[in-house]
Amino acid sequence: TKTKNRRPDWLRVKLPSGEKFKEVSETIRENNLNTVCSEARCPNMGECWGAGTATFMILGDVCTRSCAFCAVKTGRPPQDLDWDEPQRVADAAAKMKLKHVVLTSVNRDERKDGGAPIFAECHKALREAIPGVTIESLIPDFRGEWDAALQIVFDTPPDVLSHNLETVPSKYRRVRPQARYERSLELLQRTKNAGIRTKTGIMVGLGETREEVIELMQDCVEHGVEVLTIGQYMQPTKMHHPVLDWVHPDQFAEYKEIGEKLGIEHVESGPLVRSSYHAERHV
Ligand code: SF4
Ligand code: SF4
Repeated sequence: TKTKNRRPDWLRVKLPSGEKFKEVSETIRENNLNTVCSEARCPNMGECWGAGTATFMILGDVCTRSCAFCAVKTGRPPQDLDWDEPQRVADAAAKMKLKHVVLTSVNRDERKDGGAPIFAECHKALREAIPGVTIESLIPDFRGEWDAALQIVFDTPPDVLSHNLETVPSKYRRVRPQARYERSLELLQRTKNAGIRTKTGIMVGLGETREEVIELMQDCVEHGVEVLTIGQYMQPTKMHHPVLDWVHPDQFAEYKEIGEKLGIEHVESGPLVRSSYHAERHV
């Protein structure tokens, strides 16, 4: 398949605006805060910040994995866990007057606890700093260390627990080499069994077929997934996996329709959808 370089029209975005957006951007600048939204120059900043939602990345900025779609640095993380991080995140979120906070992280496969205690501490610190806040955490698979790591998150849970399948199983070797599709499904099932709202996300445009996406949605239904996001993959740099298809908005709409018919409660599906897009609507 040939790489497609030119972005179609439907991926052009309007510039962010609005009062709440301005307020959040100014707070970020004045306080030197870091969000995934601004670092990834996410096209949805206007909408998300306008709705009082932002995403923070925790557990440092070096990842033990090397997914083919991701721009985060790979290596052995230079530091132990940073126990001040939860308070910094909570202070930042409070200053930004966020109502809904999304946490995501690198993988810390060098640790048996996978960094899970920092997620738990962030949940506590955020709930103390912002009464009524809702939290979504996008967690790694913790290498299947269910008791040593996942249970720590379950014991101090967010409102929504998210773990991304990222792509269909046939693409794992190339796209997500250190992950296992079945292991990720098991994590979702365990989340559902723990009584926590269960969410996952995938990217399309990596060469998957429509049938494969439908099968994945069936797997989601069978493993307790309540919210699914589907968005267009975009190549962060030339070194990363190429975009193999620009999926048409009509196809995204069809995926949503099929997924909800199959029994997934909410499917957010569209070219610009990211796993944290419209997150505040699905708590
Ligand atoms: Fe931030 Fe996620 Fe919204 Fe993008 S989609 S602006 S990363 S919260
Ligand atoms: Fe990027 Fe997450 Fe993969 Fe690490 S595990 S390379 S942060 S997508």
